[in-house]
Amino acid sequence: MSVEPEKRACDSCGGHSAFAKYDFGAHRIMRCPGCTYMWLDPQPSEAELHEVYGEDYYRNERFFESNGQTIYGYFDYASERFVKQQDLQRVVDRIASFLGPGETVGRRFLDVGCGLGYLLDVAHDRGFSVKGIDYNQSAVDWIGRKYTFPAVSGDFMAYEGGPYDAVTMLDVIEHLPRPLEAMEKAAALTRPGGVFALSTMDSDSLVSRLLGSRLEDFRRTREHLYFFNRRTIRAGLERAGLEIIRIDSYGLTIQMSALARRLKLALPRAGAVMERLVRWSGLSSQQLHFDPRTKMIVYARKPASP
Ligand SMILES: [Zn+2]
Repeated sequence: MSVEPEKRACDSCGGHSAFAKYDFGAHRIMRCPGCTYMWLDPQPSEAELHEVYGEDYYRNERFFESNGQTIYGYFDYASERFVKQQDLQRVVDRIASFLGPGETVGRRFLDVGCGLGYLLDVAHDRGFSVKGIDYNQSAVDWIGRKYTFPAVSGDFMAYEGGPYDAVTMLDVIEHLPRPLEAMEKAAALTRPGGVFALSTMDSDSLVSRLLGSRLEDFRRTREHLYFFNRRTIRAGLERAGLEIIRIDSYGLTIQMSALARRLKLALPRAGAVMERLVRWSGLSSQQLHFDPRTKMIVYARKPASP
């Protein structure tokens, strides 16, 4: 790990001494030693981003080929719906509790980067009046075919609407070309007293640091553009005028067989051993809650008007 000059200033603190923390050849992940913010270099063009977020984003059959260029999107997002929604249920419960007593029915809920609508579905069931926005047109088309609630496609930064009682952005901020501005935009769309929830990778968790460039989140060089830890996410949200309520780690509910495949991406031998054990024990479809603490979820509140 050599310190080298980097012309680009850190978006978070303005420092000029970023160094290449991880090197993937065509791409590097830079880290600002002043404030610990990290970003992908070079950043993709608009055309390159557009190419990633197509129909095969949610069904990328080449995902496990374990080549840097193929780790993007999901192997089979649709089949993971029910396990994902168990985790999302807890997020919606938290948001409802932070909004305080009273009916959730009719409360306005915007999910930014709504994907195939799994969170919207859960929040809608809970009584929220929900709406989604996603950059991926094919995801929005899917929601239109499957659900009654609205979703629109387009650039979040140009979105007009609200204010909302709750705004969510799960696993989205790291994909955005201007994440710090996106936090300000999200804050502007939240009503005073409303709740904003955001999840993203924690770049400085113990496991993130141990696995480093082996970690899937760092290797998604076509789509993960910025990396936050608890310090930088707090700084960004506070600058956007939000008050942090709490930061938790965000584990996932996953089937044993899927966990083994994912482990194999980071640690091929350990993953292969686990894959055999899982098959041998007949536990392939057994679910477990797995929390390596590589991901965090932040709940923040927009201060009520004076
Ligand atoms: Zn910095």
